[in-house]
Amino acid sequence: MSIVVVGNGMAGSRLVTELRARDRKVPITVFGAEPQRPYNRILLSNVLAGSARPDHIGLVDPAWYERQEVDVRAGVPVVSIDRRARLVSAADGSVTPYETLVLATGSTAFIPPIPVRHPDGGEASAVDGLPAGALAFRTLEDCQEIIEMARTVRRAVVVGGGLLGIEAARGLVGRGLEVTVLHLAGHLMERQLDPEGGRVLARTLARLGIGSRLNAAVCALGTVPGADGAPVVCGVELALPDGGREFVEADLVVLSCGVRPEVSLAREAGLAVGRGILVDDELRSVTDPDVRAIGECCEHRDEVYGLVAPAWQQAEVLADLLAGTEPAARFTGARQITRLKAASIELASMGETHHDDEAEGVEVLQFADSSRGTYKKVVIRDGRLVGAILLGDTSTAGTLTQLYDRAAALPSERLSLLFGGIGGAEPAGTPLRMPDAATVCHCNNVTKGRIRACWQEGARTAADVAERTRAGTGCGSCRSALEGIVSWLGEQESVDA
Ligand SMILES: Cc1cc2nc3c(=O)[nH]c(=O)nc-3n(C[C@H](O)[C@H](O)[C@H](O)COP(=O)(O)OP(=O)(O)OC[C@H]3O[C@@H](n4cnc5c(N)ncnc54)[C@H](O)[C@@H]3O)c2cc1C
Repeated sequence: MSIVVVGNGMAGSRLVTELRARDRKVPITVFGAEPQRPYNRILLSNVLAGSARPDHIGLVDPAWYERQEVDVRAGVPVVSIDRRARLVSAADGSVTPYETLVLATGSTAFIPPIPVRHPDGGEASAVDGLPAGALAFRTLEDCQEIIEMARTVRRAVVVGGGLLGIEAARGLVGRGLEVTVLHLAGHLMERQLDPEGGRVLARTLARLGIGSRLNAAVCALGTVPGADGAPVVCGVELALPDGGREFVEADLVVLSCGVRPEVSLAREAGLAVGRGILVDDELRSVTDPDVRAIGECCEHRDEVYGLVAPAWQQAEVLADLLAGTEPAARFTGARQITRLKAASIELASMGETHHDDEAEGVEVLQFADSSRGTYKKVVIRDGRLVGAILLGDTSTAGTLTQLYDRAAALPSERLSLLFGGIGGAEPAGTPLRMPDAATVCHCNNVTKGRIRACWQEGARTAADVAERTRAGTGCGSCRSALEGIVSWLGEQESVDA
């Protein structure tokens, strides 16, 4: 069997390494449109914030491909698929046969179809190309361009107050820019937060020097002539609710307006596509059994995921299926837990967060102290946690995540869900009280039990455990929990001795 993977991002690269770990021989060719080796896209926010370096976020060492006899074509996009002949054609003119084709083409940043007003009075659509100074935030190249611009400009606007927009804004204000987030919805991060949570977040941003404007409909990009005469962005035009217009000046415009699954190849090849490429529990295209799809480009049971944990779970399931190591492996869906990666803003959100305390059939606990930037909310249905927001203080995030993940029965004493530790000798999140089944690293689906097993196999540091399990190598938010567990296991060992 020969396998061709299209897309060498977070899902594609994980599939290739997992596949090789299970099958040393199967011929694998992987095409990646981006020129560099695969990298941890999640950490671009940290690169923008200056807390990670671009050369430290690589996922697979280029030499690994050679050692493992994987044919990697970096910087070579696939341009078409001939399903009947089972061939893929790439931009370098090559034609490669496959027996199994895996599409892992991810998403592209959504650019709203707004006009770009040129200084000479002409107009073009943003979809056909952004003027200098206006950028999306999806790739390492975008990130490096934003950092380069941030060295010389003073005012930035970020269009879009979702997770990535907030992370971008935090990174830019940390680089000394005046930053305003323009958000179309009535509150920030409306997919993860309820209106109260959004209000508290806006106050937290304001304290950090980040302005935010809500119900802000950007309707055009303004430009001035640059040094070479080509248009350079000078701000954005807002359509006001009263029908008026307002111009917000900016030297840098970061567009963070969401993503769209990259399905053009699949669609042109006649595969069934909804929002993403439609796949079953074996990640198989519903149209063609020889084609699989994983990551952000696929749609599984009506869900298109925008987080890495499901993409990596799909990669593992598919590696098991293609290598034949686990023929019964299936992807049946994943829970989504979001954590913001922005200095001085602690935020975790999961599940159904929008219910208020009048909603039928749910119990809602809430605590707000907006002057200190704290907001906590827990939503319970049938005695189980179905949603939570923790803003400003995420000390109970570990416990809530476990309860949410496992749909475990909740203690009748509810306050500890918000504040932890109450009524118990141990704080709720300590390793001692964590069951072995509790997931510690969500990106890589690593449980406390697996970490304990690593310890028993001889791992003695968090880095040893990370090497064996990959725990802590996704978004990195579990690293302190991982270190806590490893040091607790060490203490246990010395007590037992
Ligand atoms: C700044 C930022 C921060 C994020 N933070 C988080 C976070 O905290 N937590 C989280 O879970 N997720 C986060 N995400 C989302 C996460 O990065 C994605 O869920 C993940 O990258 C999805 O992996 P993927 O392989 O499906 O797509 P991608 O990583 O986008 O990879 C797809 C690859 O396919 C390539 N490709 C596309 N078409 C072709 C073609 N025709 N031929 C060859 N190659 C092609 C693309 O160039 C790309 O390299 C973040 C994303 C960004 C941009």
